[in-house]
Amino acid sequence: MSTFDLLPEAVVVVDADGVIRTCNDRAYALLELTSDDVGQPLTKAIELQDDGGTVCDQLLPSNRFGRMAERLLRLHHSDGRLRPVAIAGRYLDDGGAVLTFRNAGRRERIDRLRSDLVATVSHEIRSPLTSVKGFTRTMLIKWERFSDEQKRTMLETINEDADRVTRLLKELLDVSRIDAGRVQLQRQRIDVVGLVKSVVSKAEQRPEGSGREIVVDVDEDLPNVFADPDKIEQIVTNLVENALKYAPESRIDVSVGRTDGMVRIEVADQGPGIPPDQVRRIFEKFGRGRDNRRSGTGLGLYITRGLAEAHGGRVGCESEVGDGSTFWLELPIDAEDVPTV
Ligand code: ADP
Repeated sequence: MSTFDLLPEAVVVVDADGVIRTCNDRAYALLELTSDDVGQPLTKAIELQDDGGTVCDQLLPSNRFGRMAERLLRLHHSDGRLRPVAIAGRYLDDGGAVLTFRNAGRRERIDRLRSDLVATVSHEIRSPLTSVKGFTRTMLIKWERFSDEQKRTMLETINEDADRVTRLLKELLDVSRIDAGRVQLQRQRIDVVGLVKSVVSKAEQRPEGSGREIVVDVDEDLPNVFADPDKIEQIVTNLVENALKYAPESRIDVSVGRTDGMVRIEVADQGPGIPPDQVRRIFEKFGRGRDNRRSGTGLGLYITRGLAEAHGGRVGCESEVGDGSTFWLELPIDAEDVPTV
């Protein structure tokens, strides 16, 4: 194997007409080239498209001098998919060029996450702040004109908006701990049944939960689980609050039982359900249902999954459109063996 083949980047050397002179092993793999492609024009051997879907038939810009600025294009793979590749290069004295190709999928994912983050954070901060500013200003200007009752209502809204911003900041902190693998668990033996009952009773006392039918069905004989009670409470609360929020008319069934050495908690609703192609996505960072018009960050289930996995557990969802959703959490019964994350 030559040094050329050891390079981590795919390298293709072309002549002044764009014909492939040579390429390294990584280029054969990434660009799906074969030895028959050497001696052929590069743009015949591979198909590259720009963002607008136009096929690039000219890879060498016309100035033909020095370094080429990096370009992001899409490579048409044999499986029919378009994969992002970053292409850079340098001209050779004879008008040919050395081109490097890098798989840009990861970078594209990071860019997308970054813009999701900015969009979510700015929306989730701007809308409560607009309301806080509006109510405060109105009260300051027209203080005498409002009754105590009206002022109380406005102050309650301001209070809720401040809570919303605090919640967002806490979620972002949780996400950064999960991403860095630094979730700190204060494990102890916990009575899952008692914990679930207490989450349900707290949910019933909140405005969204009042008047809602939440039925709890538990296996009273369950062993304790060795886990962080605050984190498990956070997970179950998120699942119950989501059911209240996304299945507003429905009865909610919460059950705690045992399956294959795990304690299994289920939160089932008879709400609108989630289309199969979106079930995976809602556990991803900023993942939200496509038609979701309610406010939210799309971080709750991502955090839920991260916290469950930190315990050596799992979360999931079974759902049928029009028939409701069942979200479940499984925690190892004998979690003392699970390494602390
Ligand atoms: P958020 O509620 O802030 O959007 P989550 O991560 O908690 O974030 O939920 C992600 C998405 O999953 C929601 O936006 C919603 O589309 C969907 N979802 C969650 N729970 C339910 C449910 N019980 N029924 C229907 N859709 C749900």
